[in-house]
Amino acid sequence: MGVSFTSAAANRSFQEKARNRFRYYSQQALAPVKWLSYTTGQTRLVPHPDRMYIESTNMCNLSCVMCPTGRKEVTRPKGFMEFDVFKQIVDEMAPHVKATTLHIWGEPLMHKRIYDMVAYCRSHGLRSEMSTNATLLDEKKAQKLLDAGLDAIYLCLDGMRPETYEAIRVNADYAKTNRNIHRFIELKQAGNYQTYVNLQIIQMQQTMGEIDEFVQSWKLPGVDRINVKPFDSWADQIEAISELRPGAAAATVKRYACPNLWYHVHIYWDGSIAMCDRDFNSAFPLGNVIDPDGSVRVMKNWNGPQMQDLRRRHVANEISDLVPCNSCSEWAWWKPTLFTSQGNRPVEQGEAQRLAALQNDEHANGADAFIPLNDITFAENQTTNLN
Ligand code: SF4
Repeated sequence: MGVSFTSAAANRSFQEKARNRFRYYSQQALAPVKWLSYTTGQTRLVPHPDRMYIESTNMCNLSCVMCPTGRKEVTRPKGFMEFDVFKQIVDEMAPHVKATTLHIWGEPLMHKRIYDMVAYCRSHGLRSEMSTNATLLDEKKAQKLLDAGLDAIYLCLDGMRPETYEAIRVNADYAKTNRNIHRFIELKQAGNYQTYVNLQIIQMQQTMGEIDEFVQSWKLPGVDRINVKPFDSWADQIEAISELRPGAAAATVKRYACPNLWYHVHIYWDGSIAMCDRDFNSAFPLGNVIDPDGSVRVMKNWNGPQMQDLRRRHVANEISDLVPCNSCSEWAWWKPTLFTSQGNRPVEQGEAQRLAALQNDEHANGADAFIPLNDITFAENQTTNLN
């Protein structure tokens, strides 16, 4: 039976707002503790992560050229997370993490219970976010997502022209995806839903010439942000993907321990933990949140022996044979500070100060919305990387 939800996004109770606000300030108060844990190289007893990434499914209906899934490079078994496992993850983690995505690899709208997942997050005060290719986002699904109370959606449309888009998003239809996106935005506006809409285009060779036009043309009521997503090479593991990089790879900087291992937990559909989405085939196993008796325990694995060993190798810079970290450059995209941990995207100059200022503006992302640092409103020329 599904979780009940009726226009959850439009109707937040006083208690819900108070709970979210209390959690927000508690989590902010813990930021220095997390930073100390990271910066002193703690490997055990690391505090709760800031963000969860939950893979509702790794099935996808497209064959996108910049994606290891689309290129059939993901060799893990395919499947869908069981709703009971999802619920137990949320039960344990909702009080402690700032947000969860409902996707890692795969198209989340292929999961039959995705609306129940969104509603369950909402009922537990956990901000939920989803990235979708929007090809399956018909009116009925759009309405259900909005009613379930999805906090943020990334609508991915790579290109301004059918020939560009359809060469990248193989098996998709440009006109149909456009219609779906416009209808989602209309429904959001008509129902006064607070779902934060990101219209996304990825920087790659094929799209670079269309990005300015894309940004201008999607400045519409109901679109909260145009997300020009930096190119992700997925740790340069697949040559055909690396070749799509627009320009030269970033210059190497002195290696520091990857912040993802202290700030983000990634859970695949079968309960296995990954260091991050770049380990798309679980080359470095980190345990499974599902115990043999069926109970789910995330923190046990977050600080389990394999995770400790991985952190230790990063702290000691012993990663020459550590796949995929040894070929990764995306670790350098960000570094936490005492009070900020902006997440999985490149740092831009002056950004921390700008984020702090924006975070003080409660209207930046809806007056009653929880405002994690890495998801608040940006100017359209800023970028994030919540794929
Ligand atoms: S170094 Fe790269 S591959 Fe390894 S955990 Fe960090 S971001 Fe992921």
